[in-house]
Amino acid sequence: MDNYDLHNHSTASDGLLTPTQLVELGARLGVDGLALTDHDTVDGIEEAAQAAARLGMHFVPGVEVSVTWGDTTVHIVGLGIDPSSAKLRAGLQSVRDGRLDRARQMGAALEARGIPGSFQAALALAGSELRLSRTHFARYLASAGHVKDTQQAFDRYLGKGKPAFVAHQWATLEEAVGWIRAAGGVAVMAHPGRYGLKPLGRATLLDEFKRLGGEAIEVVTGSHRPEEYATWRRVAEAYGFLASRGADYHGPGESPAQPGQLPRLPDSLTPVWTRWAH
Ligand code: AMP
Ligand code: MN
Ligand code: MN
Ligand code: MN
Repeated sequence: MDNYDLHNHSTASDGLLTPTQLVELGARLGVDGLALTDHDTVDGIEEAAQAAARLGMHFVPGVEVSVTWGDTTVHIVGLGIDPSSAKLRAGLQSVRDGRLDRARQMGAALEARGIPGSFQAALALAGSELRLSRTHFARYLASAGHVKDTQQAFDRYLGKGKPAFVAHQWATLEEAVGWIRAAGGVAVMAHPGRYGLKPLGRATLLDEFKRLGGEAIEVVTGSHRPEEYATWRRVAEAYGFLASRGADYHGPGESPAQPGQLPRLPDSLTPVWTRWAH
């Protein structure tokens, strides 16, 4: 009863499955406890919670907050949050508000590269201005044949330093951890291996996260290569962080790992779900 997967997306942000479909998939795959962690929104939580209750699965309400730390974008997952928290909701709204203008700039940059119409196409895929993400642009670029798949869209156009990358100011680390804690949640550093930081920058980020009240890091995630797990196990041990495990699932055909299919957490670590498991 400890197959927990605490990082997953739905159509409330840039996932392909509705919250209900995601929970149903998790149940089919043998997940005991699942968190929905959409980017900068709690909109899918009520639906997911209902589906989980119907299927007898333990559900952990979550969110993945976009943060700007220096010139690095960092993602902080909040787990066990109260989605009705006014402070959390206001903070997430302020982050989402920036997505529309950023997306317009991405569309203009792609147009300058000879790819017109991507803003409207991405908007149609996202279904809402406040959800518009690079993932929706990547899906459009792939479906229109400009790239062979969404990964190539990031490698050629949308990734940091590429022509359609638009630098953006998200929440501060202090705000993100503060909103999560105000909503009664645990702040978890998402996929810490993905930020491309050198050892000093990495230590500074982890120190600051801990000082601000961060309590956990993802060790086993679809965004870490298996050979990286040991590195992050040692970091969790050294800092006394709880450990999390999550696929970072976005949908069929788009994610390397399905919910609940990654290896277990190393035995030496205390899983973050011990906070809620009964
Ligand atoms: P955004 O919040 O609009 O910057 O979009 C970030 C999302 O884009 C991430 O949550 C991933 O789903 C996706 N993403 C970011 N970088 C990559 C990458 N290099 N390859 C594939 N997907 C990526
Ligand atoms: Mn995403
Ligand atoms: Mn992320
Ligand atoms: Mn994610």
